[in-house]
Amino acid sequence: MWESNPDCLFCKILAGEIPAEIVYESDSAIAFRDINPQAPTHLVIIPRKHIATINDIETGDNALVGSLYSAARDIAAADGFADDGYRVVMNCNEAAGQTVFHIHLHLLSGRSLSWPPG
Ligand code: AMP
Ligand code: ZN
Repeated sequence: MWESNPDCLFCKILAGEIPAEIVYESDSAIAFRDINPQAPTHLVIIPRKHIATINDIETGDNALVGSLYSAARDIAAADGFADDGYRVVMNCNEAAGQTVFHIHLHLLSGRSLSWPPG
């Protein structure tokens, strides 16, 4: 059983207590549509284990965190935007704009994305 936090929004989505449009599921991760999309495709990919921030990732979590990137790769291939391109980004703490404290990769595609980000 994965560690969970009863006060965490994304743990509640994992538990089915809050609805989300889940588009991908594996043993270690799920992806769902962001409620406030910043691109034509904007998914949130989360591990099934509650980890609050990048700072809280432990060595034993490396495969779990890697599986978030495998999810992004597989979704991009399945949805046909792998070759056009896409962005994955994970914010850490307030200065970077993290608002939900359960690590997540944003997966953005479907429009041209500028760099550097704001
Ligand atoms: P961050 O600001 O990096 O922590 O990203 C949190 C993301 O979660 C934001 O893009 C929000 O729009 C998104 N979000 C918040 N609540 C929900 C929800 N109930 N379902 C889907 N996405 C959500
Ligand atoms: Zn959580």
